[in-house]
Amino acid sequence: MTGRVAVVGSFNVDHVWVAASLPRPGETLAGDYRSGPGGKGFNQAIAAARAGAPTDFICALGDDAGGALARALAHDDGIALHDMRSDAPTGTAGIFVGEAGGNSIVIGPGANAALTPAFVDAQRAVIARAAVVVVQLESPLDAITQALRIARGAGAVRVLNPAPANVAVPAELLALADVITPNETEFAALLDAHAGERIDATAIAALGDDTLHALCRRLLPHGTVVVTLGAAGCFVSHGARRVSEAEHARVPGERADAIDTTGAGDAFNGALAASIALGPGCSLNEQLRFANRYAALSTERAGAAVAMPTAAQVQARFG
Ligand code: ATP
Repeated sequence: MTGRVAVVGSFNVDHVWVAASLPRPGETLAGDYRSGPGGKGFNQAIAAARAGAPTDFICALGDDAGGALARALAHDDGIALHDMRSDAPTGTAGIFVGEAGGNSIVIGPGANAALTPAFVDAQRAVIARAAVVVVQLESPLDAITQALRIARGAGAVRVLNPAPANVAVPAELLALADVITPNETEFAALLDAHAGERIDATAIAALGDDTLHALCRRLLPHGTVVVTLGAAGCFVSHGARRVSEAEHARVPGERADAIDTTGAGDAFNGALAASIALGPGCSLNEQLRFANRYAALSTERAGAAVAMPTAAQVQARFG
């Protein structure tokens, strides 16, 4: 059986300026410019589709050139698009990249902020036919909560990517997830908000495995927590339903000649969702190994959505 992935989330047009340094207040710099598709939801949908899963993408778009771009690109990748038309402009992101590393980003949510629970509810049949439903925090919380409620009723695997870190995750939303996939910063924020633990994000990777596992169990007692650790791969703490595997494991990252890690987390999430949808008989640790490989290859290419490889390219690169 070929399982589908449904992603409910954001689409942005990314405007990227690369300069020798980040502009200081009042400073004007010259740099290179590029624009392209982005938004966590869209990036993850592209990754799931290129990783081989039939994919639906539910989002809100403006009636403008950005919206037309999203429709054309979804079509090119065979993604079934279910878009709410908004009077607001399509979402945008202004990204400054300093050549020495680091970036500064301003997001204009635009139409993304207009996605309603009622529109999500109208996509009930689309969500209910999915094997895996994925949401992130760049869309209104009531809309993505509704998506996970429908997914729960339909028995789909529910993946919450709790990004970006500055959005507070309500307890109800957290409890609706089967799998959460925070990076270290997001994990630290969740621990602070939901487990009363203040741990610096930079200290997470160095914690002992048993300590990490215990923290994950407090955060999501019955679900699976996957903490992504950049080049080091990820740590997984299995929920009660995963009795066939060791309770926790580090799944090492693949060695990559990384040139641009933008969207690595999105690559990981989309590939993981596809892998779960396509291989329900396969162990989650195997699926995480594939997600690591997929995300590693995405870092060898510039950009976000455009950098997502195909499953065949991952196979050719890492075997
Ligand atoms: P981003 O914000 O850059 O999209 P993130 O902070 O959400 O990423 P990370 O933990 O940095 O997420 O990376 C996600 C996954 O991407 C990792 O678990 C790993 O599989 C892969 N990855 C990231 N950076 C590298 C790298 N330099 N080399 C190999 N794999 C990488």
